[in-house]
Amino acid sequence: MAALVDDALEAVASCGTLAELEEARVKLLGKKGLVTGIFKGLAVLPREEKPAVGQIGNLLRGLVEERLQDRARELSELEETSLIDEGALDVSLPGRRSRLGHRHLLASVADEITSIFVSLGYEIVSGPEVEFDYYNFEALNQPAHHPARSLHDTLYVRRENLERESPEDVLLRTHTSPVQVRVMESRKPPLYIVSPGKAYRKDEMDATHSAMFHQVEGFAVGRDINMGHLKGTLEVFVRKLFGTDRKVRFRPHFFPFTEPSAEVDISCYVCDGAGCGLCKGSGWLEILGSGMIDPNVFGYVGYDPEEYTGFAFGVGIERVAMLKYGIDDIRVFFENDARFLRQF
Ligand SMILES: [Zn+2]
Repeated sequence: MAALVDDALEAVASCGTLAELEEARVKLLGKKGLVTGIFKGLAVLPREEKPAVGQIGNLLRGLVEERLQDRARELSELEETSLIDEGALDVSLPGRRSRLGHRHLLASVADEITSIFVSLGYEIVSGPEVEFDYYNFEALNQPAHHPARSLHDTLYVRRENLERESPEDVLLRTHTSPVQVRVMESRKPPLYIVSPGKAYRKDEMDATHSAMFHQVEGFAVGRDINMGHLKGTLEVFVRKLFGTDRKVRFRPHFFPFTEPSAEVDISCYVCDGAGCGLCKGSGWLEILGSGMIDPNVFGYVGYDPEEYTGFAFGVGIERVAMLKYGIDDIRVFFENDARFLRQF
C-alpha cells in the first residue's frame, strides 16, 4: 500500500506542465483511475476488511487532491513567469479600465417622475404585475363584456372559462391602475399615492409598441377634491418635468374609470407650438391621461361618493423618456445596446 501512495504522489510531483497534471489527475481520480479502483475493489472484499480499505482510499484521495492543487498553483506561477521571460506578457502595459455602470434611462425617468410627486407630499406604493381581472377591469368600472375592455390585447395567465370573462381570471395587468383599487380597499382617505411599475399588452413590437411597458399611476382621494386640484397638480408636474415655459392643455377624453376624463398635452418644446415633425404639425404633445375618479369605482372599495372625491392620472414612462430625450424608437430601451445606454 505504501508503494501505491508513493507512486501516486510521485506521478503528481513529476508533472512539468498543467496539461500533464490534468493527465495525472485523470489517471488517479478519473472513472478508471487508480484511487477510484480502490473503491471499486471494495465490492469483492470480505466485509470485515471493507472499513479499513475504504478509509485508506479516502485518505489517499484527500492527499492526492491536495497535492494536485499545490502542483497546479506552482505550475501556473511558473508558466506566468516564463511568459514574462519570453516577452509574451508585458506587465508594464496599462490595464484595461472597466466601465462604471449606471441606472437605466427608464429607471431614472421613473425616479424623476415619482420624486416630483413625492415633493408634493405623495407616497410611493407598488402592486402586483400578475393581477386578477377584478382589479384590472371589474373594479375599475369595466365589468365583463364592457366595450372598453381590451380582451384581445390582454395577456391571460389563467382563465376560468374561455367563453366568458370572469373577475377570477388571472392576467398580466394591462395598466398600473389596479393599484388604485388595492390601496383604496385597504385604506381610508386622505390618500396621495404614486405607483410606478410595469404593464403588459398583447402587442407586436414595433417602433412605438412594446408588449411590456412602464407607467406611473397617481391618484388623490379626500374631501372636496375637484378638477381644479387635478389641473393644478398636473400643471406643476409637467412644468417641473419639461420646463416652466411649457403651456399645458386639457383635452376631453374617455376612460372607463374616470368621469370626466382628460388627456393632457404640453406645447411642443421643439417648435414652441408652431408645428414641426415631432408634434406632427399640431404644436402639442400628448403626455398623459387623467380624470376625476368615477363614483362607481368608489362603490367597489366601499367609499361613500357623497363624502369623498378624487382624481387619477397615468403617465407612460417610455413616452416621457422618448419625448424628453428625442428617442424615436421604443425598442432601444429593451435591446440593452451599451452604445445607446451609455449616452444617458
Ligand atoms: Zn413641434
